[in-house]
Amino acid sequence: NDPSIPPPDKDTIDALKKYFGHAHFRPMQWKIVRSILEERRDNCCIMATGYGKSLCYQFPSVYTGGTTVVISPLISLMEDQVLGLKVANIPACFLGSAQKDTADVMRSLMRGEYRVVYITPEYAAVGAGESVLKDLDRKIGITLIAIDEAHCVSQWGHDFRSSYRTLGRIRDMLPKVPIMAVTATATPEVKNDICQSLGLRDPQITMTSFDRQNLFLEVLSKTNTQHDLKSLMRETRRFYYEFDGPTIVYCPTRKETENVGQSLKAMGVKCEIYHAGLTNEKRKDVHHRFIRDELQCIVATVAFGMGIDKHDVRRIIHYGAPKDIESYYQEIGRAGRDGMNSSCHVFYTPKDFLTNRYFLNDIQNDRFRQHKAQMISKMEKYLATTKCRRRMILSHFDKNCKSSVSGTAQCCDNCAEKLRAANRAGLSTRVLTAAQMNQDSQVDYSKEAQLMLNAVKVTGESFGIGVPVMLLVGSTNQKLPDRCYKLKAYGSGRHRSEKWWKAFARVLKQEDMLTENKAGGRGGGFGNQKFSVMLTVLSTKGRNWLNKALMSDGKA
Ligand code: ADP
Repeated sequence: NDPSIPPPDKDTIDALKKYFGHAHFRPMQWKIVRSILEERRDNCCIMATGYGKSLCYQFPSVYTGGTTVVISPLISLMEDQVLGLKVANIPACFLGSAQKDTADVMRSLMRGEYRVVYITPEYAAVGAGESVLKDLDRKIGITLIAIDEAHCVSQWGHDFRSSYRTLGRIRDMLPKVPIMAVTATATPEVKNDICQSLGLRDPQITMTSFDRQNLFLEVLSKTNTQHDLKSLMRETRRFYYEFDGPTIVYCPTRKETENVGQSLKAMGVKCEIYHAGLTNEKRKDVHHRFIRDELQCIVATVAFGMGIDKHDVRRIIHYGAPKDIESYYQEIGRAGRDGMNSSCHVFYTPKDFLTNRYFLNDIQNDRFRQHKAQMISKMEKYLATTKCRRRMILSHFDKNCKSSVSGTAQCCDNCAEKLRAANRAGLSTRVLTAAQMNQDSQVDYSKEAQLMLNAVKVTGESFGIGVPVMLLVGSTNQKLPDRCYKLKAYGSGRHRSEKWWKAFARVLKQEDMLTENKAGGRGGGFGNQKFSVMLTVLSTKGRNWLNKALMSDGKA
């Protein structure tokens, strides 16, 4: 608790109990609520999922008898919130083109009968919405404008929405009304972008820890769907399997949701698929059955996202590499909102990134494409890392963020693995990455590094990683160019498998010894390719290192 902030008085706590059923504010909540009530200050709140953001913007108008306007991107989410508030005897409504009984609602609104009004960003930005907000402020004075999921305003975030871009006009339109931007995930860049684009004036910035200590993080290799998923389930009776609690499986494509859904159904799991291609009714039905525990699992694309109102999701499985760290953290944030231990697993193969990278070509703006490419690389690093995964995610949002669970068995597979270094059983299902290589910290892999870098060099740095690896293991695959058979390096890495070398190459990429270059058109690795390919090449660091190693070999 911040000692410079006076605690809430009895009246305030009584209102908190009466309308929200809570005995205390959480520390950040009171700091924010107070700044609205007493200073009418702008706020930018970055709060981990489950901290209680909605209370921050709902309380001020409930307490003062005013009206808060909440701008939120998802109609179903707003409907749920309105319902929740009504149940708690807090008058609330949703305004928008889909709204029925608008005339009645509008009359009550202008008489100040609603404590909380939800609108979409599209509605807020068009003429009709604008004049409603102006009228409302003139007639009753708006207590606060809250902009939920505010990261959508930023192109640097993971979920940019163009309708959010126009929300900056609200500040000019209603200069005296305090604005509160709230989101669960924002990097420092996104935070700055939010404050700037929304025209916040000297905002109070509040950040709770991003660390969701009850989430265990794990990365596994993708092989066969049933086999992979079974490893996370228990067999209830012969050939029937069950997850340990409500589970969401995210897939990169609709088609993949169908495949995975079928596999799970074949194992007797009560599950349904969810994606943007289904009708609204169907999606609502699936969501509600999941909330009521009639379904154990939803297999979804990321369309199943914001607005999942289920606090006891125990597992989030990404079947296929997630898009980037921010999206990933937002997606796994849906697990364990009740504070109970939950786990998050990714099954992936390096191939998953081919599709992600392919779509980069559609981005026109150079700087933006570069940014997206960096985000993809960061995700790759996350999946391949041998270090603490939690630390890696947290430092993406805040360089100084540390976690007290880091290094313990409840943190992530890498931390747990290190603790279980003595017990190597079960490694076969794990991604063959540095995770296994680094466990023996005694083992020196410099010879292998030299072989690998050399193989890339002598094949002319004009291929992906496949050709250098085939060269190392002495492959007879037709894809290996004829001239390679004569090279001294041919077969020099026979003591390891192709899979091992490929994993090792990923480690070298992580260590910035190898890097990727985009080669377009003809003249790429295989001569007559018309599409662009990624070539594995030596980085400056790798080249220097290799030269030194070769030199000391020469001296020896
Ligand atoms: P967020 O939007 O930040 O994910 P919610 O507003 O949905 O979080 O709140 C998460 C949970 O925390 C809800 O169940 C809510 O009732 C509870 N909560 C919020 N504030 C408090 C509080 N001051 N004391 C106890 N529980 C709270």
